[in-house]
Amino acid sequence: MSRIAKVAVDLSLDREFDYQIPDELVSTVEIGSRVSVPFGHRHVNGFVVGLADESDLDELKPISQVLGEKSLITEPVMELARWMSSYYLAPFETCVRSVLPAIVRRKSRGEKKQLTVSLVNSNAKEAGNLICEDLTDKQRAVFQCLEKNGTMLLSELIAAAETTASPVKSLEKKGLVHISSESVYRDPHAGVEILKTAPLELMPEQAVALEKIVTAMDAEKPQTVLLHGVTGSGKTEVYLQAISHALEQGKGAIVLVPEIALTPQTVDRFRARFADKPERVAVLHSSLADGERYDEWHRIRSGEATIVIGARSALFAPVKNPGLIVVDEEHEPTYKQDETPRYSARDAAVMRGHRENCAVVLGSATPALESYCNAKNGKYLYVDMPSRVDDRRMPEIRVVDMRLEGQRDGKRGLFSKELVFEIRARLDRAEQTMIFLNRRGFSASLVCPACGYVSECEHCSVKRTYHKARHRLICHLCGDEQGAPDRCPECGSPEFKYSGAGTEKIEEVMAKLFPKANIARMDSDTMRKKNAHREILSKFRVGKIDILIGTQMIAKGLDFPNVTLVGVVNPDHALHMADFRAGERVFQLLTQVAGRAGRGQVAGEVLVQTYTPHHPAIQFARRMDFEGFCDQELEFRKELFYPPYSHLTCITLRGKHESQVEQTCDLLWQCLEQCVSSDVMLSPPVPAPISRVRGEYRWQILLRAEKTGEMTRPVRRAVAAIKKWPKGVRCTIDIDAASL
Ligand code: ADP
Ligand code: ZN
Ligand code: ZN
Repeated sequence: MSRIAKVAVDLSLDREFDYQIPDELVSTVEIGSRVSVPFGHRHVNGFVVGLADESDLDELKPISQVLGEKSLITEPVMELARWMSSYYLAPFETCVRSVLPAIVRRKSRGEKKQLTVSLVNSNAKEAGNLICEDLTDKQRAVFQCLEKNGTMLLSELIAAAETTASPVKSLEKKGLVHISSESVYRDPHAGVEILKTAPLELMPEQAVALEKIVTAMDAEKPQTVLLHGVTGSGKTEVYLQAISHALEQGKGAIVLVPEIALTPQTVDRFRARFADKPERVAVLHSSLADGERYDEWHRIRSGEATIVIGARSALFAPVKNPGLIVVDEEHEPTYKQDETPRYSARDAAVMRGHRENCAVVLGSATPALESYCNAKNGKYLYVDMPSRVDDRRMPEIRVVDMRLEGQRDGKRGLFSKELVFEIRARLDRAEQTMIFLNRRGFSASLVCPACGYVSECEHCSVKRTYHKARHRLICHLCGDEQGAPDRCPECGSPEFKYSGAGTEKIEEVMAKLFPKANIARMDSDTMRKKNAHREILSKFRVGKIDILIGTQMIAKGLDFPNVTLVGVVNPDHALHMADFRAGERVFQLLTQVAGRAGRGQVAGEVLVQTYTPHHPAIQFARRMDFEGFCDQELEFRKELFYPPYSHLTCITLRGKHESQVEQTCDLLWQCLEQCVSSDVMLSPPVPAPISRVRGEYRWQILLRAEKTGEMTRPVRRAVAAIKKWPKGVRCTIDIDAASL
């Protein structure tokens, strides 16, 4: 038995301290235990992050107390936290903290207690009749209510009997009812009915894929599989049957889905398959209430739930013996956390797989180039499903050149004639349309034609977006907003123009074009309410909505058989971003959006309206030529030594005073130049693509190298070498940055 515990205390000190484990605690202290320890003159809480038999120090203080019954962090997850800390250059303590939901960390006991009331005497009727004369009207009402319904929650009983708690208490005093306190499970799916689904008979490609995945799961050294399946190829069914295999082996499973695709529909598909024991499935995502998240997490910890579906951080769920980790839509940039620790859940999933000796499946219709290369060079097993279920045809993609649109009649509307024609045809045939635009709000910006004034955010170097319904100008970066002026603040001209269109405007124009159609909009503005998502989607499903307009919220993972037309309005602005992945992102986006069309019996059609019709990302997407796109894109990446041929580290300095930020950045760069080896490519400091956010200036330094390890040590050394960081300048280090 180990006698020394290494403890990371909650003080952001980024180091571990040795404590002695007293005799009476030897059997309870484990890795991951929450403990209270003496620290200086007080006590602080911390986590046991390691055990040892010896310490370099002689006089160790003892652990005072173990909090909670069970260790909160399993050993493999603790190891994962350690890996994140060293790979992503993040304080270990922060990494330990980030593997637990805040509510679990804060409360050693957070379950909800509720009072329930039941009749004491099972032969209550007689007893009741006997003493009924003694009861007040209210007491009798309570009594009869319990007689009818059996055990009830106190709150429900009070409501049903239209009374207060006091007659219930009186009945308890008389010994007629029993009030007890029970923990109640806060079920995130309360009131949602699901029917069990049977496994489908697999299509040949699915069967082959499943077999390869099962072989990878059963192997002595389980492998990572890249499942490259076109949209509609039935990846989810493959996941479901692979999970069943894990369950048969007495193991659990974790399924990661991008937050945005974590729709009720996705969750329901998993719950329905395992509905004979619904308690086996737990969900973890951002729209759970704290109490729900607490309960779901502890159901996993206790072993009641063995299948977890969730967003990024669900990767750390305390599933005891996972047999499979699935990362669906593995190419999604949202798997990268944009605060410390800046981990990629996809890459961390592969690491957890190694540590737990379990297989990992990365699934996508448009794998990230990094994963695609790992598969091509044999690091991952490559499995593809190139056709749709039932040989349903892939949708036809047409590119509409918006430059010509204007030439024909001198007018350039929001929608091309083709798109309007096709939507009308869908309305006539009672089929459904989705219109996709990656910009919420009404107009992109407010421009004055008289003097050229453009409304920009005061704190960020971006234009404000006009939201018509609220008549306000809002910065989408910092959220700062103000009332839209009626005259130009510069020259006083009343002739404002709104340039560029957002989802709000599209909805308005659409409503004028098709006054009889039912139109709905889905973006983060309309989705603020808790169940708004579910409501709109179920209306769309049953055909109460003809045209659904949305941002990327509608691009992912949704499956509506009656959608036969998808319109993409102007994806061009995404191409003009100053990011070397811009082309890859647009290719992925168009492929995913197109994947929403033609999932039923009728073939689907996609119209892409663009001003840059010949851009390779658009042309390869039109031809559905993933390999062609990769070949060309990889060539460019290789030439410029960008990922996947290198790993990329982005150091960002930010602060209120631009000159200070710039000077510090220069200084850091000089230090770096001295420490890096010739294998590292170091770029000189430049202003970040968005050079000001929330009033802070940003400067960047990029480093590229074949192995991340070649950069971490010099970066660590250079940052430490700057003896005097100016007070107002903060530095973030982003390893494998997902965007610049
Ligand atoms: P993907 O995730 O690859 O885009 P889905 O898993 O959503 O594809 O599957 C597309 C549709 O095909 C779904 O409606 C699903 O129920 C159906 N499907 C999947 N596999 C089969 C199968 N073997 N037989 C019949 N239908 C299937
Ligand atoms: Zn003006
Ligand atoms: Zn702003």
